[in-house]
Amino acid sequence: MTPVEALACERCGRRYAPADVEYTCPEHDGVAGILDVRYDYDALSDVLAGVLDGPTEDLWTYEPLLPVDGDPVRLGAGGTDLLDAPALGDALGVDALVKNETTNPTGSNKDRGSAVAVSRARQQGHDTVACASTGNAAASLAGYAARAGLDCRIFVPADLPEAKAVQPRLYGATVLGVDGTYADAYELCREVSAERGWYNRNAAMNPYAVEGKRTLGFELAEEAPDADWVAMPMGNGCSLAGVWKGLREFERLGVVDDTPRLLGVQAEGATAIYDRFVAESDDSDAAAPDGGAVADGALDGEDTTADSIDVGVPHNAGKACRALAESGGDAVVVSDEAILDAQRLLGECEGVFAEPASAAAVAGVRAAVERGTVAPGERVVTVATGTGLKDSASAREAVDDVISVDAAGQGLPEDL
Ligand SMILES: *Cc1c(COP(=O)(O)O)cnc(C)c1O
Ligand SMILES: [Zn+2]
Repeated sequence: MTPVEALACERCGRRYAPADVEYTCPEHDGVAGILDVRYDYDALSDVLAGVLDGPTEDLWTYEPLLPVDGDPVRLGAGGTDLLDAPALGDALGVDALVKNETTNPTGSNKDRGSAVAVSRARQQGHDTVACASTGNAAASLAGYAARAGLDCRIFVPADLPEAKAVQPRLYGATVLGVDGTYADAYELCREVSAERGWYNRNAAMNPYAVEGKRTLGFELAEEAPDADWVAMPMGNGCSLAGVWKGLREFERLGVVDDTPRLLGVQAEGATAIYDRFVAESDDSDAAAPDGGAVADGALDGEDTTADSIDVGVPHNAGKACRALAESGGDAVVVSDEAILDAQRLLGECEGVFAEPASAAAVAGVRAAVERGTVAPGERVVTVATGTGLKDSASAREAVDDVISVDAAGQGLPEDL
């Protein structure tokens, strides 16, 4: 028995028994009606004390709150460090903390979603899992599939960073490089998975993956109950929406009195969620950091070095916007230049090597402080969503050159 009560359509509100639907609401075309997992909160309340008692080893510490019925796949996702970040805080003018999701087993916060989705796939008797990905979900699904003994098929845009294409293959997955955008890969994966009976972990259309991401919200509620803000990058918007769900649930269950405001950050090349948030919130002061117009790249959505948030057609924009609004939060857009500066700042200040998409959150905090959205000295958790080690080519643009020295030390700078 899981504590799931029903799956509710985000669009029309129809509710389904978990056994009656697998992905999206059948009342709408394509994946328009994404489903939200609803819980029996009395049941969650009953098991909560046991969950909160003791340290958070990994996300399965929260197993009684997750839609998985025993026999979870364990690889070590979750239970990540929340780091004090005094040097970063000085640089940004806030009381900074970094939630270090780069240490998840395959290097990103996607592991929280994959842990739950793959556990469910195995329980339902599927032997093959699939997803479309900008890279991290691919590696994550492939790693968890290997651990669970399932086959894995991955659809990625052909131009993704080399290491992100290697990692899932190393875990034994078959990788299909789609000549097109992430949106093309997503659609193709949906069609082929349906035809061949593969279990599809695609962002947002799989209602369960995002439930694993709630655990990041649980951890933040427990570890930083006094945070004023949580800053996160947004691609499809699943990560941010999942975190908000977890934060809200822990407030509802009485674990914390308050929830932080969310700062959602997008890159200039892919601003769809930001655009929608601004359009929906008339009195929002959301704006590009320099007050300028959003770059033209927003139109094709394939124009930022932050590949993990290079999502032209986000599938969870509605939920993400609602999370931002409910939290009293805001959205900002940052340039690639600001992202690379922030990537280096995070590395130099705190020893965290995050990928550009993650560094966007740091750049977003800087922009929000400059605009007065985040007040000086406020307590801000920045989520470092993924490791930079998979994409050293991007980071290469942010760092100094190697200094060449011969074996006798010729070339060594005097002032070093
Ligand atoms: C997927 C991803 C994001 C964005 O998450 P969404 O759920 O698509 O909004 C941010 N950072 C990293 C490292 C990611 O892998
Ligand atoms: Zn519906």
